[in-house]
Amino acid sequence: MKQAPWMTEDHVAYGDTVRQFLSRELTASMERWTTQGYVEGDFWRKAGDVGILGASIPECYGGGGLDRTFDAVAFLEYSRTGDTGWGLGVHNIAAHYILGYGTEDQKKRWLPGLVSGQRIGAIAITEPGSGSDMKSISTRARKQGDTYRISGSKIFITNGQTANLLCVVTKTDPGAGSRGISIIVVDTEEVDDGFRRGRKLKKLGMQRQDTSELFFDELSVPAENLLGGVEDRDSTN
Ligand SMILES: Cc1cc2nc3c(=O)[nH]c(=O)nc-3n(C[C@H](O)[C@H](O)[C@H](O)COP(=O)(O)OP(=O)(O)OC[C@H]3O[C@@H](n4cnc5c(N)ncnc54)[C@H](O)[C@@H]3O)c2cc1C
Repeated sequence: MKQAPWMTEDHVAYGDTVRQFLSRELTASMERWTTQGYVEGDFWRKAGDVGILGASIPECYGGGGLDRTFDAVAFLEYSRTGDTGWGLGVHNIAAHYILGYGTEDQKKRWLPGLVSGQRIGAIAITEPGSGSDMKSISTRARKQGDTYRISGSKIFITNGQTANLLCVVTKTDPGAGSRGISIIVVDTEEVDDGFRRGRKLKKLGMQRQDTSELFFDELSVPAENLLGGVEDRDSTN
């Protein structure tokens, strides 16, 4: 691998490991992914075994305990394959939302699975009526006792057919502008029929990626899944 000036021997060794894994497992899968339109869970678990999914997650949560420059190396190697189907980027964003803003209990609950590939992450922000301007989302989460009831719909969600841990951006206090927005983590293996995956969207490119619609109809989620544990969190803290 051509070495960037900031790379140490450890980065180069990690890049070699990632490249070998991708040339062995990903290149051989691309044609199948194009036909089926998604990346299957087995591939995620193999990537987790090699240490690609959690290099920058602390060891106490199952990760590699390295810094984000190692994720950059993994991306560099991934970009060389020419694939655009594997939603590694949003998976890593979901993991780092949880690492950065989750409570200790939430980090212990969700990060090890995201690192091992048992859990596939997604971030659900975009809606049919809301894109760049996140403040204009309509998906609503109402607190009822020890649960939230989520209603609304999302669109263009990477890993939408395969993800089992969704960071869903919701309005918990519609009158509070940007401060009334919260992320609620939805474990799709624990949900009732208030959650539904919609169409895998037809796109001009990125045929291997399951960019999808998601629907929430009074979905009941434990209140303890509110990321960070409080609705109005000062982001400077
Ligand atoms: C393949 C794919 C995967 C995606 N994956 C995800 C995902 O995993 N999760 C998710 O939540 N979303 C996802 N998205 C959605 C993506 O994040 C949105 O498309 C993006 O946020 C832009 O929203 P929009 O398409 O509604 O465009 P708009 O917000 O309507 O913007 C349209 C155009 O107007 C410009 N514009 C917008 N506001 C302003 C402004 N104030 N001033 C000047 N120009 C402006 C924009 O730059 C853009 O060029 C995905 C989209 C694609 C295509």
